[in-house]
Formats: sequence, C-alpha cells, structure tokens
Amino acid sequence: METAVVPMTVLSNTAIAPNGHRNGGSSRSDGRLIVMSNRAPIRIVREHGHERVEPTVGGVGSTFLRLLERHGGTWIAWSGGPRSPAPLTMPPGGEPRFRIVFAPLGEQDISDYYYAMCNRALWPLMHLMIPRMHFSRQHWQRYERVNRGFAEIAAREANGGDFLWVQDFHLALVPQFVREQRGDIPIGIFWHVPFPPEQLLRILPWREEFLNGMLGADLIGFHTRSYANHFLNCCAGVMGLRVDRARGEVAIGSRRVRVGAYPLGIPADFFAGLAASDKVRTRVARIRRAIGTPTIILGVDRLDYTKGILERLRGYERFLEQNPQWRRRVTLVLIAVPSRTKVSDYAQLKRDLDELVGNIVGRYSSEGWAPLRYLYTQFGAEELVAYYAAADVALLTPLRDGMNLVAKEFVASHLDDHGVLILSEFAGAAEELKEALLVNPYSVDQLADRIHQAIEMAPAERTRRLSAMRRTVHENSLELWSESFLDALGEAASPNTDAAIESAV
Ligand code: UDP
Repeated sequence: METAVVPMTVLSNTAIAPNGHRNGGSSRSDGRLIVMSNRAPIRIVREHGHERVEPTVGGVGSTFLRLLERHGGTWIAWSGGPRSPAPLTMPPGGEPRFRIVFAPLGEQDISDYYYAMCNRALWPLMHLMIPRMHFSRQHWQRYERVNRGFAEIAAREANGGDFLWVQDFHLALVPQFVREQRGDIPIGIFWHVPFPPEQLLRILPWREEFLNGMLGADLIGFHTRSYANHFLNCCAGVMGLRVDRARGEVAIGSRRVRVGAYPLGIPADFFAGLAASDKVRTRVARIRRAIGTPTIILGVDRLDYTKGILERLRGYERFLEQNPQWRRRVTLVLIAVPSRTKVSDYAQLKRDLDELVGNIVGRYSSEGWAPLRYLYTQFGAEELVAYYAAADVALLTPLRDGMNLVAKEFVASHLDDHGVLILSEFAGAAEELKEALLVNPYSVDQLADRIHQAIEMAPAERTRRLSAMRRTVHENSLELWSESFLDALGEAASPNTDAAIESAV
C-alpha cells in the first residue's frame, strides 16, 4: 500500500531497537546494497519549477531507505508513470549516500506488465482467486521484457561485493536475468505475497520459466513456513528438482538455493510511542465520543477483493441478526483505502461494498444509531493509530494475505490490554499471532460467533491474549527482519553454506 504511516525521518531517528540480531549484527556490512522493487517509496513533488523528493510509504519502504543510507548503494524502481526522471541522489539535501534509478516503462509496458500480468494474473494466482486470473502470452512476454530491463540496470549498477535484494512478485524473473550477466553478485528475493500450493501454481502457463526466474537467486524469502514449503513443493513437483525440505534448499545445476521463512515485522516501538502520545490520546477520546457506542469494532484494509471485506460485513450482519441485545451498543468502523481503482475488479468491488453497506445501514439503523461507519479514505499515522487504540475489537478477515501488518499494528497500538484481535486464519500473521481469535472468513456463522465471543470476552482473557501478542510483535521487529534476511543472504551466497542453514524451513 502506498501510504505515509511511518515517515522516513521518524524511522531514522527513533529507537527501533533490533531486538537481538542473530549474530549480534549484520554479517555483510562491507558491501553496498542494490534494492529493487516495482515502486520506490518516494514521490517527486513539483512546486514553482522546483522538484522535491518525499518519502511516501510505510514501514517496509522506510526500512530500505534507512538500510541504503547505512550501506550506500542504489534503489531501482519504476517511477509510477511513463516519464522516467533522471536518477536521484539521496537523501535529498544531505550528504549523498545512495541513488534512486528509475526503470523506464512505456505505456504498453504499464498496461501489459503492470495492470495485466501483475494485477490481473499473478496477484490473483498468488492469492488463490482462480476466477479472477487472466492469462495472455502478450502480457507474459511484456512481463519478461520489463524484468529483463530491471535486471540490466542492476547488472550495470552493481560493483563487485554489492548485494542485490529484489522485492516481490512483480520481479520474479530478475534473479535469473541478473545471474546470466553477473554471476558474482549475491542475489536475494523476498516474496511479500503468499505463495500458492503446487496444484494452483500449475495453472500458470509459464510456470517453469517463472520458477526458474526465482531460482536465479541465492536466497528466496517468504513470510511463513507454509509459503516456503509450497515453493519447495513446486520446485520438486513442477521442475523435478532435488529439494531438501529440512534444510530449506533446492539443488539446481551446480548451485544450491536457500529458501526460508522471514516474517515481516513492524516498528512496534513507533506505534506504541504514538499511541502513548497526548495528541493520539486526545484523538482517541474524540473518536469514541463521536461514535458513541460502548463497543467499537474496527476493520482496516486496502479496498482489495483478497481482504474479505464483503464477507466481514455479511458476518457482522449475521451477528446483528442473531444478537438483537447488542444492537445500539456496537458500531463497526470500516476504513477502506482506495486501491488500484483503474482495475475493473476493484471498481466492481467498490460498487458491491457501497451497496452492501447501504443495505445493512438501511436495515438496522434506528434513531441516533447506525450499525456501521464506512470511511473510504487513507489516514496518516496519528489518525490510524487513534482508530486502532479507540477500537475494542479489530476484525481482519482476509481471504488470503501475505502477512497483514494491520493486525500487528493494532496489537502494538493497544496499550491498555483490553483489545481483542479477530484474525483470518488465512493471513500470514496468523502463524505468529496465535493468541488471536482465528476465523475462517468464508464462514458467515463463524464470523458472527467470533464477533460475539470477542465482545463478551472476560477482561482477564483479553489481557492474557493481547499481552502475549504484544511481546511477539515487539520481538519480531522490522529491523530484525531486514537484518536476518541480509545475514542469511551473506551466508547463502558464500561458497561454504553448510553451517548456515539452521533457520531455514
Ligand atoms: N495504512 C495506512 N493508512 C490507512 C490504512 C492503512 O497508512 O488509512 C497502512 C497500514 O498502517 C499498514 C498498511 O497500510 O502498514 C497495510 O499493510 P497490510 O500488510 O495490512 O496490507 P497490504 O495493503 O500491504 O496488502
């Protein structure tokens, strides 16, 4: 999501203490870093003939900016439009530490690579949404071409001793294309979305090329063990490669590719600090007053069909139907952040959501009470944390989600120990946040039951669950995630990898 929740300056200056590096620090502090992603976490603001660079995304993007400041290097990304600005020197106005180099994409690239292949083929495939997948050879070829273009920039930019860290499914073929040109550079790819089971991946007409592309890396990272296992199964089943599941390794030619789970964390101290601030406390009181019911349930997502927003509303409707005693005493606040509005499935989802919200509000509202508030907007950090802290229950029900950072942010922002997290069992975060009330979002009855269970949960049980989850999110910090991955990349790329496999799947 392109958001501004954690400004770069905040992240660079505050104490997001690495809660224990595995090796007491990065094992590869000497090499520069080449980071590559579809988009960079900055926007170029033009005012009065001047250009200014501003950071635009939340935690993960900010972490990479900070890593690049520390290690030096290059960030390679698409600018987001057909115009490709000249490389930027970062940080703006400061002593140059790294550059942002833009991969040029023409109109046809944007349409076929980004909108079609990434958004309408790979995204639904990774999230197991079979009816939403659209495959075309033309789009695939464009995807290959754009990936090759990205890889050429990396091959040009990298010095010997640099490390390449590729982000996500937009750039699955880059590791192989870079390796063809620069066998000397350690290459890692991190997969921010789920990875599908073998039977699903087999649907992709170019599945061998796709897996081969990823296998150009020395290290492939996923959020969870199950995604990593799915990948290993695909290597064995689709490619016929030798796979060591216990060590998390795939043998390809004379190389070994390491595969592991590296769950993405959040800057938990940042969220806790904001929640404790006077400004946010005042906002919390204002939100609670404005909503007016003793109990507030909160949902926060990009407006995406993978997030299970319609399913959540049907579950809430069933809850209201079955529990008339709770009407007028509870409100569901739904924050839906506009996303991919030019893609037809997303525009349709918006229409469906508007209609369902209207039906529920029309059916259950009574004088002075509406069962839900629907906010189609994107909040900044303070307002969002105020909503997290004001809510009694977070209801997060993705049908499939790589991680779901909102779940972790809710936990970190609830300092009073009385919040309850209802979380889809199909979110990556469910593997870590075991004390959440897990739910199958496809079951309307179970959703209704979980809501009931959450709002009637005894205070002692709320405290026990939330404090355990709070420990988890503080321990598995964002800092720890990036350092662990870089440590593992250093180890995976060194010729003597045998001693270094213990944390893999
Ligand atoms: N977010 C935000 N403003 C909002 C709602 C959400 O900045 O109004 C941020 C939120 O803090 C979180 C991110 O958007 O870091 C969503 O991440 P998540 O992993 O939950 O879902 P994604 O959108 O990446 O699929």
